[in-house]
Order: sequence, then structure tokens, then C-alpha cells
Amino acid sequence: MKIILIYPYFLDERLQVEDVRVVPIGLYYIGAVLKENQHDVEIVNWYDIHKTPHKIEETLEEKRPDIIGVSIMNANRWGGIDIAKITKKILPEVKTVFGGIGTTFLWQHLLTHFKEIDFAVLGEGEYSFLNLVQCIEKENYDRINEIKGIAFRKGEKVIKTSDAEIIQDLDLLPMPSKYFEFHHLSSSRGCPANCTFCGSPQFWGRKVRFHSPEYFSDQIERLYSKGITFFYVSDDTFTMRKDRVIQICKKIIEKDLQIAWFAISRVNHVDEEILYWMRKAGCIQISYGVESGSEKIRGILNKNIKTDDIKRAFAMTTKYGILARAYFIYGSPGESYETIQETINLIHEIKPLSTIFYILDIFPGTALYEDFKRKTKLRDDIWLKRIEDIMYFESDPRLSKDEILAFGQKLKSDYFSHLGEFADAVELADNKDLYKSHADFLSRLAMTFSHGDYAAIETIPEKEEVARRLYERSLSYCPNHRAYLGLGIIKQKRGEYEESVQILSEGVKQYPDSKPLVTCLGVSYMKLNQYEEALKCFLKFPDSREALQYAAACYRTLGDSEKESSILRRLERATYEASR
Ligand code: SF4
Repeated sequence: MKIILIYPYFLDERLQVEDVRVVPIGLYYIGAVLKENQHDVEIVNWYDIHKTPHKIEETLEEKRPDIIGVSIMNANRWGGIDIAKITKKILPEVKTVFGGIGTTFLWQHLLTHFKEIDFAVLGEGEYSFLNLVQCIEKENYDRINEIKGIAFRKGEKVIKTSDAEIIQDLDLLPMPSKYFEFHHLSSSRGCPANCTFCGSPQFWGRKVRFHSPEYFSDQIERLYSKGITFFYVSDDTFTMRKDRVIQICKKIIEKDLQIAWFAISRVNHVDEEILYWMRKAGCIQISYGVESGSEKIRGILNKNIKTDDIKRAFAMTTKYGILARAYFIYGSPGESYETIQETINLIHEIKPLSTIFYILDIFPGTALYEDFKRKTKLRDDIWLKRIEDIMYFESDPRLSKDEILAFGQKLKSDYFSHLGEFADAVELADNKDLYKSHADFLSRLAMTFSHGDYAAIETIPEKEEVARRLYERSLSYCPNHRAYLGLGIIKQKRGEYEESVQILSEGVKQYPDSKPLVTCLGVSYMKLNQYEEALKCFLKFPDSREALQYAAACYRTLGDSEKESSILRRLERATYEASR
């Protein structure tokens, strides 16, 4: 059968598009199982298709699928519903199947109110979806009740079949990398914790299941062979089993996979040994849910982590040159200016180099939602409103919107005003084996201040100076391409051309074929009126339009119109080639 698997758009625009643009890894697993069973599958990332809505119809008309499978969370369910409506309008015979966490906790509501949804796949969907596809293919609807883990309409009734068994051995799943290319990886399913705001425990169960280190590292190797070198490991707690993680890291190192990756963990599940191996294997960021500086609020959220564990984890992670990112939630039950201050105090102690501040949301599948329904007597019908989710404070008369906005403002402005100090306070392990990765860590961090996300944030003071110090610290460990270039550019911007030439020349000695370094060095020579030296740099890259433009400018200043014309002709050719 021809199946399109769709990741739909969200209602609200995000400040950071990274939060929504990644197709959930679950769709790739489903795609792989279907392909393994000879179905024709395509995965489409429609996180931003609402900006060009005509493309939905065009794609469906062109591909004419038999089935569309839509994976939703709560916040993008309206995107999925809109797409299903369009599908049924132009291709009424197409079967529409919804899955994902957003479907699993709202199947009854969705099938009751939205006739454009034919089937819901609940929970872990690989085999339920496959069985459903086979049933649709054979039009064998008499036995549809026998397919476990689905729900559907029969007349006016909504029927749910018995739960599907969970997949005990995840390695038996076909490898998605055999068929697709992606950046998100999953090495386990489930989370033993039970935070009141999170749907993961109810979706996956609290007993964690794992891929073997072999399966996981083979998956990375296959993607690496397709040219993918950056990964997000989206396990709820990647470091749950220490030995297994170390085995994974050793395999990445043995296979010589030159990759960088992000992971998620809990502050009480890391130690120095695991962090050492993760860094050696390319991990550059670990996200931890800290949620609040108030122990009382963490208790209410059932977060179950101690302040000492938080402090220990952040210090240790940074020590190994891994950026420790902190997730905070505000607007929780009992939130006040005092608890916000406790969060600020904790931030000053753990000095996170990256933070995300969220307002507490309520969505189906969480203890918080059940509590909300009990207290308000509202039912799932609330999701008929065209909203993404409900903010907790909207249900608590003790919290007002203005107050919540003020809390967020206070947290963010305090954080950004101290971020430079936090970067300066980084203490790294004095382990020669890690010097190269320390240089990499510091130069990456510097780059966020000089050219990256932080460069655009006005409330961060002295960004360029912070970047300069970090680049210099980076080079004190080891030669580093990013640090030479970043520092050279800063010196150039400040008009310190002699120093810029010096630092960039050192860089070029280490990386003689680096176009950015050599070109930047040429520019600094130009600023010093050393045109012959500058030309040596630019003419090293006769195919680079940027270098040719600079070379032409040098000849013009030197009054050599013949050479200038020859370079301009070459530039014209290069421009023509590039436009073809
Ligand atoms: S927030 Fe994290 S630790 Fe808590 S239940 Fe969810 S996945 Fe587990």
C-alpha cells in the first residue's frame, strides 16, 4: 500500500523553530516496519506547511496515497486534523490513521468529534499500525476487532480494542536507518520517574526497555555512512544504565565515528566516569530537567531530585566539557516571587550555560491533567477549542497572567545578565586526554556569544569580550580552528589588525587549507595595506568568489588594471557556474 506518514504543524509560532521542526523518531520506526513488509512509505515533515497550505493538496494529489498516518502530540493535533480534513475533501477514499502521544490520550475525543479521522493507533504503534494497514489492504474489516492497540468508529460508537503487548526486545525492530536519514536517535523507551506534568511514563510505561549497544551504535554508523554527523539522543534518561552507556561510547570510539551529539539525562543518573566516556564519544550537550529552585515546587511536580544532586551534576558535566542545559518550569502550583528567587539563587549556583524556561502546561496523559479535570469538572471537550494546550496558571485563581509574565521576565533577565559570568566561571578537568575536547567546548561556547544565539540577545552584557576570553582559553588547551577564526575576526572588528594577522597566521600554520582562515588573514593584510601578502592569501582559492572579489580590490588599489580585469573575468565565470 502507498502510505504517507505525516508530522503536522503546530498552531502557535515558536521563537525557536528547533523546538518543533524535528520529526519524532517514532515515525521512522513505523516507516521501517512498514517498508520491511513491502509497503511504499514516505515520511513528510509538515511542521511548517501551513505557511504554504496549497502544498498539502498538491502533494496529496500527486502522490495519491492509500493511507495517511498522522503522528501528533497534543500541541499539533489541530495541524493533523486540518490535514485529515483536506485529505478527505480531495481524496475521500484515503484512510486516515492518527497515532502518537496526542492520539493515545485523546482517542475517544478525536474519533467522536472528527469524522475525518478513521482510525487511532494507541501507544507503541509499530505492529498495531502494520496490522491495521494489512487489514485495510485486504478490506478485511470483519476482523478489525482482533487488531490490538487501535480504536475506530462503528456506526455512532467509538470502539477500542484490547491493549497491544509492548515490544520486549527493541532490537527486533528493523533499523530505521536502513531506509531513512534522520538526526534523532532513541536507545531506550520509558522513564521510571513519574513527574506530574509529563506524559512519558503513561505512554511508554515506567519499566524502561533498551536497545543493545550493538544495535544503537550500528544505527549511528549507518547514518554516519550517509553523511550525518550530528545527532540528538532523545531518550528520557540516556544515562540510566551506566555500563551500557559506556559500552555505547566505546563502540562509537572504536568505529572512529567523528560525531557530535546531544543527550537528555537526570541529575541523579550521571557520574564522572560516564561523563568522561560520553565526552570522548562526541557528546557536547546534556539537558537536565531541574524545573525549579524551590524544593517544595519540585515536590509538587513529583520531580524527586535533590538540590545537591543538581549542583553536583552541573559542576561535573561542565568539568568534562559538556554543555549542561537546564530546563526550568515556572507558573507551577505555589509559585511566588519567593520561589522564583529560589530558582534564581539555584541558577547562580549551578551556572548553566544554556537554559529553557517554560510556563507549566497541562495536557492529556499527565497526572496534572487528571487533577485539572477533577477540580474544574471540565472534560476532554475542552480540546475542541482551537488551542495548543492549557497553561496551569489559567486554572489556579492564586496566579494571574501578569504575574506569570513578570516571573518569566525576572528569570530571563537575571539569567542573561549573568550569563557571561557563568561562562567565565567554567572549570574544566585537568586531564590531558581531554584537552582537545576542552578546546572544542570553549570555542563552541565562545561562538554562541560572538556569532550564535547569544550574539543576538541584547541583554547579555559584553558578549564580544566574553567570547574573546573563551576563544583565548580554548587556544590555551590546544590549537582549534574555530578559536583562531573567532578571535581573528574579533580583533579585525576592533581594528586590531596586527594582532589579527598574528592569530590568524598561527591558525593558518595549523590549518593551511582552511579557506575561512586564509581569507580572513588576507582581509587583515589588506587593512594593513599589505596587498602583496593579502593577494597570496586570496589567490590560493581561485574558485572562491569571495576571495576573487578581494583579490580584484587589491589589484585595483595597486593600480594593476590588467590583473584586476583578468580576476573580474574569472569572477564572472565563477558567478555563472554557481548560478547554473
Ligand atoms: S519529565 Fe523526564 S524524568 Fe520526569 S517523567 Fe518525564 S521523562 Fe521522566
